[in-house]
Amino acid sequence: MALPQIKFAALRAINLPARMAPKIDLVDSVLDSLRAATAYVDAFAVTRGGAAAWRARRDERLAALLRHAHEHSPFYRRLYRALLGARPPSAWRLDELPPVHKAELMQHFDEWVTDPAVTVEGVREFVRDPARIGTPFLGRYIVWESSGSSGRPALFVQDREALAVGDALQSARGPVASALPSWLTPMWSAFGPMLPRLAFVGAVGGHFASVVSLARLVRVNPWLQGALRTFSFLQPRHELAAALEAWQPSVLSTYPSMAWVLAEERAAGRLRIAPREIWTGGESLTPALRAALSERFGATVRDSYGASECLEMASECGHGGMHLHGDWVILEPVDECLRPVPEGELGASVLLTNLANRVQPAIRYVLGDRVRIVRDPCACGSALPIVEVHGRDDETLGVDVRAGERVHLAPLALVTVLEDEARVFDFELCQTAPATLRLTLYGCDARPERVAAARTALQGWLRQQGLGAVRLQCGVCTDGEARGRSGKRLRVRALRA
Ligand SMILES: [Zn+2]
Repeated sequence: MALPQIKFAALRAINLPARMAPKIDLVDSVLDSLRAATAYVDAFAVTRGGAAAWRARRDERLAALLRHAHEHSPFYRRLYRALLGARPPSAWRLDELPPVHKAELMQHFDEWVTDPAVTVEGVREFVRDPARIGTPFLGRYIVWESSGSSGRPALFVQDREALAVGDALQSARGPVASALPSWLTPMWSAFGPMLPRLAFVGAVGGHFASVVSLARLVRVNPWLQGALRTFSFLQPRHELAAALEAWQPSVLSTYPSMAWVLAEERAAGRLRIAPREIWTGGESLTPALRAALSERFGATVRDSYGASECLEMASECGHGGMHLHGDWVILEPVDECLRPVPEGELGASVLLTNLANRVQPAIRYVLGDRVRIVRDPCACGSALPIVEVHGRDDETLGVDVRAGERVHLAPLALVTVLEDEARVFDFELCQTAPATLRLTLYGCDARPERVAAARTALQGWLRQQGLGAVRLQCGVCTDGEARGRSGKRLRVRALRA
């Protein structure tokens, strides 16, 4: 089926000079809306266009990305040197390109990016200042960081088209599409008062992908100011509860484990909110947890799949199918040796190709998640393939404060305290009794001064949560296997029955 062709080329060319950009947010915001509207119309048409439509889009976007990476990224030019023969980059097959790893890309950051004005030092300097969260880098990019296993954060740069595509996919296929009437979604930003009150609960103190993208959304759509609030999951739990109760969100957006912690607080009578929808992401949501959240809150649960490398990879339809945005994202499930697994099988890892972001191309990027691609048709009628994501997620701890009173701790909050405050990354935090935690540091973190820093940070945070009575045992292990964030082992383990 022939679809109207919408070209990004003209919009890609419009970029305000860096020195002007901060002064003319309004022009910026109009251009951003234009880009998002263009991408929205395209995503909407592709969703209804059948399998041939998304595949055609995928193929032409992949050819353009390969051409761009080859012309403008010295890293990829070197990597693909052996392939340069009779065929131009746009004719290369994806499966003949070597996979790339985060560590090597970060090591060659300045050659990886396709704009020589973007440098690792420049981005590092930019993310040092929390006041710049969600503001443009060099007047034309948005940047965020994620914790790395080695202790140095990985840095991600998104161009405006990638952000516009992300906004459009959210509106056309994501939970926003279900929260608002369909005719309203293309212009949802213009209907501030009718918008749901959204609460995002998570890590908000740094340039992390979720909070950066929310801050940017509000910056380019100031009328959203009254609809979105962010809440730190590290604040004392009674303060978090009071802030959420004051806001009374109709939509709660957070990690599945944090949603469960809040559900438990609500069940214990310590949190009085009644969201209509729970939007989850960032960790895997098991069917049991989904059912429990839905029942505890009496709310609809919508899950989505994204990563720092590509915020919008898949989102759930009203029939529970997690549809891959196949026109903008390619996922290849692979085995331990990074060889493709047969169609329909679960991989040990997955390779990501993000077709939307040109400034920092991710082409066959080893993402690490275990993914299965299901070709079965979905009851919603969409021809976009369905993905199943099988995570290896850290566990939620249930700690007893006193007889009959249990408090739940989200693993991501504990990890954030240890990584951001104590700067330790290679650890295992294990609950060994109802009110006892054992922290073991491994590898280069197995040093007395790191143990002391980790103990201070964790005890301080537990005290703030009213859990000063929890016993904390700390130690080191110098010959254990690494447990860093990219590792395959859990770092937070609940008490076994
Ligand atoms: Zn569906």
